[in-house]
Amino acid sequence: MPDFRSKNFRIIAGLVGLLLVIGLFLALRDGSRLITGDQLDLLAQKKLITRIVREDPYLYVRTSKMLYRVPVSAVDLKKVGREYPIEIHKKWDMLNLGLILLLLLLVGLAVVIYYLSRRDRLETARRVETAEGEREIPVRESITPTRSRVRFDDVAGSEEVKRDLREIIDFLKKPARYKKFDIRLPKGVLLAGPPGVGKTLMAKAVAGEAGVPFFYQSGANIVEIYVGMGPRRVHELFQAAKKAAPAIIFIDEIDAVGRHRGSLRNEEREATLNQLLTEMDGFESDSGVIVMAATNRIEMLDQALLRPGRFDRRVHLSLPDMEDRRKILELYLRRKPHELDLEELARSTVGFSAAALSTLVNEAALHALRRGGKQIEEEDFEAVRETVISGKRKILSFSEEERRIQAVYQSGKALVATWLDVPYDRIGIVTTRMREAEREINSRSDLLARIKVLLAGSAATQAVFGEQYSNAAEDRAAAIAEARRLIHDYGMGEHLLARDDEVESLLTEQYREVETMLLKLRQAREAIEAWLLEHENIREEEARRILRDLF
Ligand code: ADP
Repeated sequence: MPDFRSKNFRIIAGLVGLLLVIGLFLALRDGSRLITGDQLDLLAQKKLITRIVREDPYLYVRTSKMLYRVPVSAVDLKKVGREYPIEIHKKWDMLNLGLILLLLLLVGLAVVIYYLSRRDRLETARRVETAEGEREIPVRESITPTRSRVRFDDVAGSEEVKRDLREIIDFLKKPARYKKFDIRLPKGVLLAGPPGVGKTLMAKAVAGEAGVPFFYQSGANIVEIYVGMGPRRVHELFQAAKKAAPAIIFIDEIDAVGRHRGSLRNEEREATLNQLLTEMDGFESDSGVIVMAATNRIEMLDQALLRPGRFDRRVHLSLPDMEDRRKILELYLRRKPHELDLEELARSTVGFSAAALSTLVNEAALHALRRGGKQIEEEDFEAVRETVISGKRKILSFSEEERRIQAVYQSGKALVATWLDVPYDRIGIVTTRMREAEREINSRSDLLARIKVLLAGSAATQAVFGEQYSNAAEDRAAAIAEARRLIHDYGMGEHLLARDDEVESLLTEQYREVETMLLKLRQAREAIEAWLLEHENIREEEARRILRDLF
């Protein structure tokens, strides 16, 4: 079957069409020669005429060799009529019959071409992405959207994220309503989070819920496959989406395009990034196009992308906590024979992303099948666990002991943060997300409180196990950096002219204060630790409730 999408096919179809038209034109062309009334008389005298047809405004005169035409006005019709019978054709009989035929043919041709291209488009649209579907979308010459059939129900867990995205869906469904109230929605939504947590799936679900076309592009493809064409590709992408609006553009791995323009200069990428920025600035927020993008390295992104009017809505997806893992496992085991304790299974899969869980379930099912079991058992999971872990680099895979260490460490942080009002979204065994400082002006006590939170984990493990662990490395480095900024950049140290040992003494002092705090609030920390062991992460309001219940 020919590839109707290919450029070659279109060129050939175009040429064939043109040739047909030219051929028809030649065939139906008026091939007669114009003569005068006198010349007609001459032909009559020589008895060369075989037939005369009147078709205003001409008389067509046929001889055995030629066809002539002579204007009716130049002929004495009576005289000619006496010698030859004049057949009278209505004007459109012959010539126009030809024209009508030509038109019909052209219309037919157009219909065939339209049908072919439409069928092709339908075929593309039929290639829907389902929840379990492949993420690879074949690279094509033309930019065609897919129709997503993914729904929020296909995305297990991530309830907060779904809540955040509902407004976008509503906007895509009823753009006119938002326009009426002159509400501006974000043009860009950035989905940030580690690989395999469902960023792509979530974007597809938004398209599926809103019922709008989904334009997928991967940043890596744009710069690697379309070398030299990146900017054009981006332009075409936006053009196509605007035409199909309301629609969603999804750019996977946007960091491939939008990495900050640091030392490694790459003209191609920069040109592509600039084009992306231009396109995003160039369309109105009521155009009905929402650009979604995914990255697992938000800190690597060029700041320009994060400015207002671009990706100003950011949604974080983290590795699933225990509750979400249970839901994901439930989803994947839905149609598989088993009587597993999902709670237990969720507990033993700390650090697994949804993608990793999907692989794990699949491998376990295969294992069960191979050993000839009736259903999937715990032992199947145990048997394949290691292979899955070693296959996926990112899995943390904590042992029970490590889980406990993390719980103690994070409970210290959560307690101090809650006590000192340092805002956070969630603090947990696998992922912790402190909120960015929201204010432009921070007080010295705010900054010190943040430093205390960063030191609280170490202080907690020291208090409970009498030991320090390597999981503290990142926080410790952040605490040092923060203390340096406080003293050197903000000049908030003891002395106006910062001295070298001030950072050290500030940190020591903060650490001591945290130790005292943990000692006094031991019960609260233990309660939070217990919560963490059960739920894996804790939100501000939950920690606050625990504290309120205790005091
Ligand atoms: P990302 O874009 O974050 O790398 P994907 O959306 O490509 O992740 O997800 C990878 C795989 O994991 C897909 O097969 C997807 O269906 C599955 N998946 C991810 N998150 C979920 C979820 N919350 N519920 C069910 N399946 C999920």
